[in-house]
Amino acid sequence: MTIRPICISGNPVLHNRASEVTVFDENLRELVADMFETMDAAPGVGLAAPQIGVAKRIFTYTWTEDDGALKRGVVINPVLEIGPISAEMPDEDDESEGCLSFPGYRFPLKRAERAIVTGVDLDQNPIHIEAQGWFARIFQHEYDHLDGTLYVDKLRDEFKPEVEEIKQEVGWGIDGLSWMPGKDDLDA
Ligand code: ZN
Repeated sequence: MTIRPICISGNPVLHNRASEVTVFDENLRELVADMFETMDAAPGVGLAAPQIGVAKRIFTYTWTEDDGALKRGVVINPVLEIGPISAEMPDEDDESEGCLSFPGYRFPLKRAERAIVTGVDLDQNPIHIEAQGWFARIFQHEYDHLDGTLYVDKLRDEFKPEVEEIKQEVGWGIDGLSWMPGKDDLDA
């Protein structure tokens, strides 16, 4: 297994729709193993394949619920169903999200409280997961990556100038930038 560099906002792979997985082979297994290792090293609670430069519809997740239950896995070719999203102002403390492809920052964003993810695993067995709260948020965040959307693209208008300022300040928004978990300290 290999930790792979994580693409930063501006790399086209993060801003375009990823394609369905059609070949389930040893390469796919290796890719998913690398995704788990990269996610854990970052560390992050989720990682989508485009974040390591692979334009495929795959994400991994790892999340411990309040009751201690560990939710960890991979979803290939996911389909996401979500509940309603409140139009209210998101809470800065409880609803601030971060992203390994926009590392070191957090912004509040409303998400649906509930989500259902279906798809397949590495052996093409069907997956059906019902999630609530942060677990549901992770699925929504990772799924968006597969459609070329970063959470910062979805923020309310009042946060957009700050996002643009950050991009300018740190020089993001151009192709070819990445960071290496375990080597670059980005304190995401
Ligand atoms: Zn992300």
